[in-house]
Amino acid sequence: MRLRDPTLAPAAGFDWSRVQWGGPDDRPSDTCSYCGAPLGEHPLRLFSPAGRAAAFCGGCQETWWGLVAVVPLEADCDDDGEPFEDEPA
Ligand SMILES: [Zn+2]
Repeated sequence: MRLRDPTLAPAAGFDWSRVQWGGPDDRPSDTCSYCGAPLGEHPLRLFSPAGRAAAFCGGCQETWWGLVAVVPLEADCDDDGEPFEDEPA
């Protein structure tokens, strides 16, 4: 299933002027463009039409973008804590 016309908007109170956008040729940042925290494993990366980039840490994703990390249940992981691969149908 594909989303039609997906939209993603920040929560009320989000201050776009705080976002530190990187230039199109800049190395991707490893800190949050909004709060400066380390990005962690799964940052949310946004790109402007002009190719500028911003990345958001897990805390900002939850606070401002309503995104919540899904952690696999222990029973769904192997002995190394890695999620099992889906079985081919
Ligand atoms: Zn942040």
